[in-house]
Amino acid sequence: MIDQQIKAVIRDIADFPKPGIVFKDITPILKDPALCNGIVDAFIDQLKGTRVDVVAGVESRGFLFGLTLANKLGVPFVPVRKAGKLPFSIKQKVYELEYGTATIELHTDAFEPGQHVLIHDDLLATGGTVTAASELIEEMGGVVAGFTFVVGLNFLNGKERIAPLCDKIVVLAE
Ligand code: AMP
Repeated sequence: MIDQQIKAVIRDIADFPKPGIVFKDITPILKDPALCNGIVDAFIDQLKGTRVDVVAGVESRGFLFGLTLANKLGVPFVPVRKAGKLPFSIKQKVYELEYGTATIELHTDAFEPGQHVLIHDDLLATGGTVTAASELIEEMGGVVAGFTFVVGLNFLNGKERIAPLCDKIVVLAE
C-alpha cells in the first residue's frame, strides 16, 4: 500500500527547525522514482470524478508533486508563493500564524473565474496555509476543487479545519 511505502521512507527529524518540532523529511521519497510515480498515480486515482481545471502547489514542497500531478492530469500548474517571489501582477492573502502573520501570493492570471482549482501541498499540519490559499483562490473567483497532501499530521486536526472548505480531501499517509 502507498501509505506504508511513504511512511517507510519519511524521516522524522527531532527539534527541526526549532525545539519541540518533529520535522517530516520527505526528501527520501524524491530518491525513489517508482514511489514518486505511485504517489501521483494514487492522487489521480482518488481524484476520479472530481473536476480539476488547475493545480495550485504551495511553496515550496508543494511544487514537487503538484507540477507532476498537473502534467499527468493535463491541466495547468500554478505556484502559490510567499510574499515577494512572483514577478507579474499578484493578489495576496495575509494570514495568522501562532506568532505573527504570513503572506501568500498568486499571479492574477493564475486561473479564470469559475475554474476549479485543486490545492496541493506536501504536508497537512494545522491546515492554516491551505485555508489561506483557498480563501485567496475564492477571492479571485475560483472554486476550490479539493486538497491533496502526501502526508498528514492527524494530531493537529488539519482535516477537521479544512473540511468545511471542500469535502474532497486526499491525504495519502496519515
Ligand atoms: P500548516 O499551515 O500548519 O498546515 O503547515 C503546513 C506547511 O508547513 C506545509 O507546507 C509543510 O510543508 C510545513 N510543515 C508544517 N509542519 C511540518 C512538519 N512537522 N514537518 C514538515 N513540514 C511541516
